[in-house]
Parts: sequence; C-alpha cells; structure tokens
Amino acid sequence: MTEVTEPLPRYRRVLLKMSGEALMGDRGFGHDPSTLRRLAEEVQGVHAREVEQCLVIGGGNMVRGEQYAANGIERTTGDYMGMLATVINALAVQSVLEQTGLQTRVLSAIPMAAVCEPYIRRRAIRHMEKGRVVICAGGTGNPFFTTDTAAALRAAELGCDVLLKGTKVDGVYSADPMRDPDAVRFERLSYHEVLARDLKVMDAPAISLARESAIPIIVFSLRSPGALIRVLHGDGPHTMITEEAPRTKEARP
Ligand code: UDP
Repeated sequence: MTEVTEPLPRYRRVLLKMSGEALMGDRGFGHDPSTLRRLAEEVQGVHAREVEQCLVIGGGNMVRGEQYAANGIERTTGDYMGMLATVINALAVQSVLEQTGLQTRVLSAIPMAAVCEPYIRRRAIRHMEKGRVVICAGGTGNPFFTTDTAAALRAAELGCDVLLKGTKVDGVYSADPMRDPDAVRFERLSYHEVLARDLKVMDAPAISLARESAIPIIVFSLRSPGALIRVLHGDGPHTMITEEAPRTKEARP
C-alpha cells in the first residue's frame, strides 16, 4: 500500500503525451479497451501520488493528415481531420479515466462546445490545481503541426516540470530497434544532439520549444505496464533529454 501513495518528490506537474497508437494496443486502428483501462489506472496511480497531470492526446490511430494528402485529400483538410481524431481519442480517454474515480476535463484547441471546453490556459491551470486531470485535444489547432509540438507547447505554457513522451519503444535508439539488432538506447541526450543527429523521437519544433523552456523530455514505453510510475521515480528504461547530456553513454536495454 505504501508503494501506491508514496509521493513523487521530483515533479509537481507533469505533461504526458499519449500517441493515438498507444491507445490501440495490438490492433491496427481505433482503441483497445483493455489498453485504455490499463493506461487509465497508470494515470490514476500518478494522481494518487499528488502530481498534477495534463495529457496531450494524439490521433495517429485514426487519421494522419500527411497520409490522407497522399491519397488525394487536401493536406490542410487531412490535418483538420487528424485534429478531430484527437478529440475522439480524448473523449475515450476521459471516459476510462473517470471510471477510475478521477475528475477530468477535455479542453480542445478547436472549440467544440457540445462535447468539451475550449482550451483556455488559465482554465487548464485552475482545473489541475483543483485536482482534475486535464486532457488537451485538437493538437495546436493548426495544420502542419503535430501533437508532439502541441505537447511541448502545453508543457511550456502550463508550467509543467517534465514532458513524458510515451511511445512503443522504451527510449531513443541509435537506429530502429525493431529492424537493427545493433541499435542502442541512449540513457541521456541533449536537445542539440537530438536535433543535430536527426533522431526520430519528436519533430524539431517540439524539441526546440522544450529546449527554449528548459523542459526535460523523458521518452519511455507506454506499452510496458507500470512504466509511467517507474520513470517518474527515475527508474526503468527510458531516455532523458535535457540541455546538458552529462553522460553520453549509450546503454543496451
Ligand atoms: N495535427 C495537426 N495539427 C496539430 C496536431 C495534429 O494538423 O497541431 C494533425 C496531423 O494531421 C497529424 C494528426 O493530426 O497527423 C494526428 O496527430 P499526430 O500525428 O501528432 O498523432 P500521434 O502520432 O501522436 O498519434
């Protein structure tokens, strides 16, 4: 029991970026109910440790603007479709979070009065102060951006102490670990190294924004049960991206 309520000394307010893919488990599209429930329990576990949380939800499990553009839909239209997909995902996440007893609010960068609140910075902060989990939908509200950039933007303007980037793999690798057996995971990287080596972890605007606001980024696997709590304690496999990368050590998982 002590383990469940032990406070996390490192962080007061965190931003968790959940990609659309994280919601679909092993399916090829949409949502996997058991994955959604597990993620909800993990978020609840962080809340129980008195950490304020803001989630930024992706939409790649349903629509990616770029792919639609390749199939003859205008790029900007595809991007707006992608942003709408994030709202659908945010509602699914809200529903499962509330089943764990959490109070939540969905705030969308694209106003959608019938289903959620508009994104207003001061309101988002107030919700978190009241113990509600804020779920940011609609990305940045602009085409040609990604929800990674939205995550960095919200982390900066909402005063988050860290940006947690949950992915399919447990950190940033020197090559694609699914294809290259020699790929190694970095324990720490600087923002500069990520940009200079063009490491495919988040897009460049997201990294630059985090760098400007000195928000550390932790890349970890959302597929691994309990990983969210572990990385908040500084444990478990992950890659930490900060201004300085004191150890340039690469570690095998
Ligand atoms: N999108 C956008 N502007 C934003 C955020 C997202 O146009 O600020 C669109 C874009 O088409 C993107 C899609 O929404 O492909 C889904 O978002 P993203 O790919 O970031 O989702 P994730 O990969 O995190 O699931």
